[in-house]
Amino acid sequence: MTATMVDVRGVHKSFGRLEVLRGVDLQVEAGSVTVILGPSGSGKSTLLRAINHLEKLNRGYVSIDGELIGYRRAGGKLHELKEREVLRQRTHIGFVFQNFNLFPHLTVVENIVEAPVSALRRPKAEARAHALELLARVGLADKADAYPRQLSGGQQQRVAIARALALEPKVLLFDEPTSALDPELVGEVLDVIKDLARTGTTMIVVTHEIGFAREAADTVVFMDGGVVVEQGPPAAVLDDPQHERTRAFLSKVL
Ligand code: ADP
Ligand code: MG
Repeated sequence: MTATMVDVRGVHKSFGRLEVLRGVDLQVEAGSVTVILGPSGSGKSTLLRAINHLEKLNRGYVSIDGELIGYRRAGGKLHELKEREVLRQRTHIGFVFQNFNLFPHLTVVENIVEAPVSALRRPKAEARAHALELLARVGLADKADAYPRQLSGGQQQRVAIARALALEPKVLLFDEPTSALDPELVGEVLDVIKDLARTGTTMIVVTHEIGFAREAADTVVFMDGGVVVEQGPPAAVLDDPQHERTRAFLSKVL
């Protein structure tokens, strides 16, 4: 038996007259890894932001672990939740950005304890102990008191992953987590993500790293023009794509 952790149904999103998501459906099983591939501008980042309710939807809905995100249903209609409620929901959704987005004036361990202490009201000592465990998990136990600027890009991204994990999210979203890294630092970050995959963390990873998709994904999703063109196990989508658009994209990146 598997349970759906993330359920995206008929999601539409426009910016002015530009329709960026044109009816996206996506189901992500609990404990699985979904890799989203697609050309630049196909709506991948917008989809992640929609899942996190950083974007309001024009149509459709997202639910996580059975809970509607950003809206409540009443009288057969969706009503927007108050910002405070949305913030509470977001504590269950980890987000790792391309550019790390660490707080530059806080040490590594302070970066990680910030949200658990301020958003979840965890006792400081407990949050710190958990942060140190997470740092060990991403191979950075010795960097707890360093500042972000003293770390390599790969190390900063591993801190960002530990920070996302500190809220014990139901799902972790990654938006091109290695795109800003020098090539020699990509592997260490992908290794951490693969490690998380083995521990059953539910993840959605937007990336251009086809090798990672092949190795770590349960499902590969190919997006183009604001829709899911095809999806399936990595071997099916990567080695035997059914759609011309997928073939054209893969021939450029492989
Ligand atoms: P991807 O991540 O696949 O490269 P995005 O989701 O970032 O694609 O963007 C899809 C399209 O939406 C692009 O044409 C982009 O310029 C446009 N877009 C994204 N965010 C905004 C915004 N806030 N306002 C206007 N257009 C946007
Ligand atoms: Mg993007």
